[in-house]
Order: sequence, then C-alpha cells, then structure tokens
Amino acid sequence: VIRHHAISGEPLILAPERAGRPNDFDDAPSICPFCPGNEHETPPEVARVGEPWRLRVFPNKYPATAHHEVIVESPHHGAAFHDLAPSDAEAAVRLYADRYRVMRDADGVRGVSLFKNHGRQAGASLAHLHSQILATPFVPLRVSREMDGFARADACPLCAIPGVVIAEDDSFVWLAPHASAMPYLSWLVPRVHAPELVPLTDAAALARLLARASRAAARLRGAFNWMFLNFPMTSGAAAPKAHWYVEVVPRVTALAGFELGSGSAINVVSPEEAARYLQGPA
Ligand SMILES: [Zn+2]
Ligand SMILES: [Zn+2]
Repeated sequence: VIRHHAISGEPLILAPERAGRPNDFDDAPSICPFCPGNEHETPPEVARVGEPWRLRVFPNKYPATAHHEVIVESPHHGAAFHDLAPSDAEAAVRLYADRYRVMRDADGVRGVSLFKNHGRQAGASLAHLHSQILATPFVPLRVSREMDGFARADACPLCAIPGVVIAEDDSFVWLAPHASAMPYLSWLVPRVHAPELVPLTDAAALARLLARASRAAARLRGAFNWMFLNFPMTSGAAAPKAHWYVEVVPRVTALAGFELGSGSAINVVSPEEAARYLQGPA
C-alpha cells in the first residue's frame, strides 16, 4: 500500500505483512529458506544459474510491492559476495541487469530499486547471501532529486569523477565522493555516461569491484548496503543527462537526531581516509 506523508506528500510503502517474515537475527536460527534442499520454502523461481543451482531468483515471499524479487547469489549459507568464484559474481551481475530490465518494463512501474542488505546492521533479516529488486509505482525520491541535479548541471557531475579514486579499470572508477553522508561510503561509476545499468557493458569488471567493496566492508564492521542508482526514462525527461552508479555503504554508524531531524549529515571520516582504508592492504 502506498501512503503519503501528511505534510510533504512524499510517498512511502506500508507493508505490515512483512513484519511476519522470518528473522535469522532475532530468533534461534530455524531452517534457511535460501539453502539447497529448501527450495520449496520459496515461491517458484523465475531464473537460475547452474545445475545444481549456483544462483537463483524468485519472488519475495513477503513482497513490499507488486514486483519484489530475491536474488540468492550462492548455495553456501556462509558465503559473502567476495567469496564467490569470479564467474558466479559475474553471473550475479548479469542477473541484476536481466531482472532490472524485466521490472523496469512492467506495467505501472515508475522506479526500480536494486540493492543488497548484508548483515543485521544493514537491515537484512536472513543471513544467507542475497540481493533484492523491487519496483515502485512512484519515482523514488532520491532518484527524482538526483535527476533534477543532473538536469541542472552544465556538465555531468559523475563524468567529472567527484571524489578520491580508490581503484579504476577500463570500465569503472571506484571513488570516495568529496561529499558523502556516511563514513566510508563509496561509488562505483561506469566510465560510459549512460542513465541505467542496461545495456550492461562489462559485467566482469563490475563484479570484480563489487567483490572488492564487499571485502572492504567486511574489514570494517561487516554489515553494508549497496544500491544501484538508475535513471530510466520513466523517471522523467532528464534521464539522458543522468549517469547511473552503485553506492556502497558500510554500516558503521546509526542515524542520529541531527540526521533524522535535519535530513543533513555530519560525516566524521574524510574521503581521503575512506579511500585509503577501502583500498585495503597492498
Ligand atoms: Zn542458507
Ligand atoms: Zn556522466
């Protein structure tokens, strides 16, 4: 159900039925619905890689919206993204792009959120490695704000590499932005200026950098989120001026009163220090 904030009119999703979903972190661990042998615990799958499977995709059993899927990226319960074989990490990225394209083109969809919650502090309810993709009947507020920013800019702010470079290759730049709301936050920016993840040009390169970002987050507190920021035409006429990217946020601090009350942030880690740390041991 979509509700709107009484004052600002901003949309939000009310999904009380999701309160009933299993939680690995609250209860004594019960059977893991994402482990091999328990496939009957999930809705019928819409995609799989490998036989026996190494990755699988199925609708979320506790959907927040009409289109909400889970991408399980490994059959191994304790695996992290950086533990995946390079071919499986690349297959995961290809699945992200495939499912993104399907959802973006579904009826009534105005936005698609593709993200990973890894660890309890990042909002995960199940520990087994997975990502989620969720379509909304409204343009997500962040997407619409950033779309306005791209539309206003004389030149693309992301093409200008607005931060301290952590690593780069022919296809992507991984950077700590000059201005970020959270400590150790980083962006994976494709070198090709394009509004969205599809068509996907270099899945292997993106998979390698996502794995590095996952490993770096594991060295901090372990929990992290990554979010794909896409700007499809359905989000507004300014899409061609926009530049998609991935944001990775290690969860080392909680939001406090100033952040919640002002909507602005106080970040205690400089981008130089963040880049040095995320680069990791030589
Ligand atoms: Zn499991
Ligand atoms: Zn650009």
